[in-house]
Amino acid sequence: MEKKRVYTFGNGQAEGRADMRDLLGGKGANLAEMNLIGVPVPPGFTITTEVCNEYYEIGQERFVAILKEDVEKAIKHVETLMNSKFGDVANPLLVSVRSGARASMPGMMDTILNLGLNDEVVEGLTRKTGNARFAWDSYRRFVQMYGDVVLGLKPTSKEDIDPFEAIIEEVKHVKGVKLDNELEVADLKELVVKFKDAIKKQTGKDFPTNAYEQLWGAICAVFNSWMNERAILYRKIEGIPTEWGTAVTVQAMVFGNMGETSATGVCFSRDAATGEDLFNGEYLINAQGEDVVAGIRTPQQITKTGSQRWAALAGVSEANRASKYPSMEEALPEIYKELDTLQTKLENHYKDMQDMEFTVQEGKLWFLQTRNGKRTGAAMVKIAMDMLRQGVINEKGALLRVEPGKLEELLHPVFDKDALKKSKVLTRGLPASPGAACGQIVFFADDAAKWHDDKKKVIMVRIETSPEDLAGMHAAEGILTARGGMTSHAAVVARGIGKCCVSGAGALNIDYKNKTVEIDGIVLKEGDYISLNGTTGEVYAGKVETKAAELSGDFAELMALADKYTRLEVRTNADTPHDAEVARRFGAVGIGLCRTEHMFFDGEKIKAMREMILAQDVEGRRKALAKILPYQKADFKGIYRAMEGCPVTVRLLDPPLHEFVPHDEKGQREMAEAMGVSLQYIKKRVNALREQNPMLGHRGSRLGNTYPEITAMQTRAILEAALELKKEGVTVYPEIMVPLTGILYEFTEQEKIIRREAAKLFTETGDSIDFKVGTMIEIPRAALTADRIATSAEFFSFGTNDLTQMTFGYSRDDIASFLPIYLEKKILKVDPFQILDQKGVGKLIRMATEGGRSVRPDLKCGICGEHGGEPSSVKFCHQVGLNYVSCSPFRVPIARLAAAQAAIEEG
Ligand code: PEP
Ligand code: MG
Repeated sequence: MEKKRVYTFGNGQAEGRADMRDLLGGKGANLAEMNLIGVPVPPGFTITTEVCNEYYEIGQERFVAILKEDVEKAIKHVETLMNSKFGDVANPLLVSVRSGARASMPGMMDTILNLGLNDEVVEGLTRKTGNARFAWDSYRRFVQMYGDVVLGLKPTSKEDIDPFEAIIEEVKHVKGVKLDNELEVADLKELVVKFKDAIKKQTGKDFPTNAYEQLWGAICAVFNSWMNERAILYRKIEGIPTEWGTAVTVQAMVFGNMGETSATGVCFSRDAATGEDLFNGEYLINAQGEDVVAGIRTPQQITKTGSQRWAALAGVSEANRASKYPSMEEALPEIYKELDTLQTKLENHYKDMQDMEFTVQEGKLWFLQTRNGKRTGAAMVKIAMDMLRQGVINEKGALLRVEPGKLEELLHPVFDKDALKKSKVLTRGLPASPGAACGQIVFFADDAAKWHDDKKKVIMVRIETSPEDLAGMHAAEGILTARGGMTSHAAVVARGIGKCCVSGAGALNIDYKNKTVEIDGIVLKEGDYISLNGTTGEVYAGKVETKAAELSGDFAELMALADKYTRLEVRTNADTPHDAEVARRFGAVGIGLCRTEHMFFDGEKIKAMREMILAQDVEGRRKALAKILPYQKADFKGIYRAMEGCPVTVRLLDPPLHEFVPHDEKGQREMAEAMGVSLQYIKKRVNALREQNPMLGHRGSRLGNTYPEITAMQTRAILEAALELKKEGVTVYPEIMVPLTGILYEFTEQEKIIRREAAKLFTETGDSIDFKVGTMIEIPRAALTADRIATSAEFFSFGTNDLTQMTFGYSRDDIASFLPIYLEKKILKVDPFQILDQKGVGKLIRMATEGGRSVRPDLKCGICGEHGGEPSSVKFCHQVGLNYVSCSPFRVPIARLAAAQAAIEEG
């Protein structure tokens, strides 16, 4: 059978369903489903995502030929249901053409509305509706959108305003009016002529008059927009594969701009910023869809409660609010009731928070879209837990509902309450996306990205944002806009990517040319600091202090729930008592990796360390190490205290010694002075430590085996600290870990030294403590010979940073030079240093775990490379049967949730 490329819907029937989103895109699948469950949707059809790939394979011409018959048939279907005709002058059918990928990509691709109009049809539409203003307003919008999206008339530089907006401004100026809706029919006609002229002049293209020609142009443009820069960037950020493609939905137009009983809006079944179970949204009377999201007019609230909250934030009195900015609940009560019923129906049907678009045409409500709403990390957790409590989903459902990576937002610092009280509030906007952000002002997305690359923290300040600003929004700490509501592009995208955002701060006067913003008489320029509170909408001058987030409320409950289903333990990588404490508060049940080298760097310690490196013989080294011992012991005691009752894996010295000496002349001179030797001598020693490939050089167990006294000193510090704490009643379980083992004997030699030193210490003190000796598995040979190594090693910890480096042969430090090209060419799908390569490195992990346990069934196995906090890698570790993952403190909750999900998904 010929492949089905087009799926129709309308009048309570549909060829598609909600579970066909891979093929029909989210929008297409849900439009079909809404039809099936009795939600009013204008009829239309969806061209599948597979066709998108075909389009890119076979090119425009062949694509149109293949699809022609199907599309014409589908248009007939819409004509029949709408009782009108596409391209007809007397009784015209107008359509919208929209994108819709499998995963929602708000605002990233193109849309065209009011398609099917030309100079004659617009007259027909005028006669049919008796509303010339509406007909011409629709026509000028169509020419504007089509001219931009399909014919390519766009601003030439970032400081320029949109060429169509420039023409509108000019016409308004000549006429002496301020608002678009003050323009009369004659002005709108003039706009159409001027728009077409500008298009012809700048692009050399005539505006097409044939409806089908317009339609094919629009369909191709939407498919093309799958590959526009911002869509590509968005996919990269969200990890959406290019092969998914976008579907295209063509749908009969319904009009929100037909007068005072028409409206358009966007609404959410719950609050996307906080998660509160409160229906909310925004609408505009006598407007078309794009007006709400584009932030051109600041829209009104749908519910009365929302409207009153908005007024309080905007400093608008109740009387003023009720007369000038009434909610939909007050202005269109009947339609509001229907909208409220249907939004509840949709949320119950999808069992998730819905983000919906609707249009009211002369008192009749239509839904144009529903999707699971983008939300902040905080809202994600609250909605999942609320829905669990409300009995909508069960415990497993709630755990699976939460995206582990997005929990990170909840762990970001928040403003310190006392610091906030002392700070000056410059102005207020809408609390569009919660969080605390502080940084230097920039006005353009490319500057935000550049400054970010220079390691600066920035706040992007814009009149309004558009999808082109995505890269800048991503690079910024926070976003502040002068215009736009809670459903504006800035707000929706910010919530989706977890960025703090304050929108619609009307007091901002932004001057892009001079790069300044004036707020009630105070002028700030590019580079000045401001702080944003995305939870309250407040904007502060300067920097406001922040403090660490806490794991409490719904978040804590969710984590407790995770532990109920988890098998994997989650430990942390921590080198300081502070990190250990933070991790413990986030639920870590031990330390999986304490990198001791990080303890050698400050003050006296680095001096003693350098003394050891300079020493000529064992005696000299021992003397220097004796100086380090008390410091190490004190460090370990601090960490043990923070981890009382838990296992603490301490790794012996790992990095090559050259990392401890200065390589610049100034540093070497200082070192010479501190050590009382000549600069020449230092230079010679530093030179002697030079290696071509230090990562494959004199490091790890090779250090401990060439300088056994280091291993002995560290063993003593690790165990003596534990013994001393034991006297204070503090129990810990030290695990001594040998780094970078490749050969069994590398390990057994180290083990001998460790056990000998321990025995000596226990005899000296007359006391003892249980401890384990194990190894990192970081070298492929260690993984391949794990059954030998486990005859001696009591535990394995997979150092997947080095194991990835050595399995791929990619230097950890140099991969940046070719990784971007590899990703672009799809030679690599992802960065293997971030996401565990399950096929290769993972195979070694599996093999080593099985090999090790074949000789030591109770061998404890864990992972402590960066992958230990990455959700897909954590799930793999569960599948392989590791005992624990270990990750940086702030990723502990992420790993805990991913571990629970892995257990649930296993069934
Ligand atoms: C590893 O190699 O994965 C590891 C944890 O050790 P380091 O990153 O310190 O080399
Ligand atoms: Mg390593």
